[in-house]
Amino acid sequence: MKNRTPADLVVAPRVDAVEVEAIIEDRLLARPRASVDREQLQHHLREALKLLHVDMEDENIRDTPRRWAESLVTMTSGYDYTDLKKLTTLFRKACSTADERCQNLVVIGGTYKTLCAHHILPFFGHFIVGYIPEAMIIGASKIPRIVEVHMRRLQSQEHLAHDVADTIERILEPRGIAVWMGGVHLCMVMRGVEQESSFMETNVLRGEFRSDERTRQEFMSIVSRRGQKG
Ligand SMILES: [Zn+2]
Repeated sequence: MKNRTPADLVVAPRVDAVEVEAIIEDRLLARPRASVDREQLQHHLREALKLLHVDMEDENIRDTPRRWAESLVTMTSGYDYTDLKKLTTLFRKACSTADERCQNLVVIGGTYKTLCAHHILPFFGHFIVGYIPEAMIIGASKIPRIVEVHMRRLQSQEHLAHDVADTIERILEPRGIAVWMGGVHLCMVMRGVEQESSFMETNVLRGEFRSDERTRQEFMSIVSRRGQKG
């Protein structure tokens, strides 16, 4: 934790969109995605189905390569800088240590759905993000948008949780950040061991969530109240 006096915090400048954009470019190494060649993608997906001896004349299948390609483009749109750029509307707001919002643990929860990087099958569930502000806060609705950008990439639950923590950490520089995720993984349900109970939990704890037992307990009790299955 940096030593800032309350007076410093009160006059902390409001960060504008251009500056946040620079943070995203520099620290998250985000680059524009070249436009996807949909025709090539459809062609290769069609070939893949043929290799599986799927009847491509079946009227139910005929248009599948096009639909499959479109859904893959959508579900990987988080690689596209223009999507990530929407984050530039995330205005960080300076807050003062005299302000209650800047002392307390901020907790935001929601749902996510994404594709596993290993099998390109869905996994989905709930997330809970907690952070303790240092001198910056953002609107509660922005956290789910950060999750949304990262979930539209091929992910593991572990990587997704760390990506969300990295982004919030880099934009807000909080005293601590915690990300809990719990999800059902269809690659475990539908293949391999075919486990019906495929619920997995991931916990990322940094800063005061790691160093301070009480802060960690406070977050974990919120997780156990709100984060259980469904
Ligand atoms: Zn998988």
